[in-house]
Amino acid sequence: LSFLRRCDILCSMLADFHTHTCLSDGVLSPIELIRRAHVLGLGAIALTDHAGPGSLGRVIEEVKKDCLVARAHWNIMAIPGVELTHLPSTIIPEVAQRAKELGAWLVVVHGETLTEPVEPGTNRAALSSPYVDLLAHPGLITLDEALLAARQGIFLELSTRKGHCLTNGHIAQMARRTQAKLLIASDAHDEGELLTPSLFRAVSIGAGLAEEELAALQENAQLLLSRLPVEENP
Ligand SMILES: [Zn+2]
Ligand SMILES: [Zn+2]
Repeated sequence: LSFLRRCDILCSMLADFHTHTCLSDGVLSPIELIRRAHVLGLGAIALTDHAGPGSLGRVIEEVKKDCLVARAHWNIMAIPGVELTHLPSTIIPEVAQRAKELGAWLVVVHGETLTEPVEPGTNRAALSSPYVDLLAHPGLITLDEALLAARQGIFLELSTRKGHCLTNGHIAQMARRTQAKLLIASDAHDEGELLTPSLFRAVSIGAGLAEEELAALQENAQLLLSRLPVEENP
């Protein structure tokens, strides 16, 4: 995929970096979710199903195939990923590395949200791994952890999902104080929950972001897209 096409996609369109399919607890199959996102006008979608050490290989293998087909036929950047969810925190770095070796382009870690709490220490373990791209809904993330995110270049998520969004204002504040980079993502488990321009805007403003910080969010999405592995021609 050329740099120009990447820019084309993101300069004008929205990217959603956190979604689920029936490979975990989402409703639609991977190819169907991508197709729905394409019809809704998203420029990029990452499929990031819940995975653990045992399911990692199967989930990545299946999602890679559908993403490849989608990219070949539709004008949408379909990104194979995983969300490491409820792992013992100490094994997160090694499983994240394995996910990348198996061909995941994007590794998300399910952070310490208030509503579906994972093992304490998950935020820090995720932020210590160079193989993690996005810490999802990090809850009451500390200033130290946000500093680590900034240093490691790991994005922090503002979630549009109910419950996970409770601490968005706090996360935005920690990011502002540490220069950590934010992304907005939907954590959609069905078509109706995917990111839209109006949701993007409303949740950003609801988290206390100013107009210029909204533009920075778009730049952050572009930066993440530019880091994805260069695609071999199918
Ligand atoms: Zn889920
Ligand atoms: Zn999720």
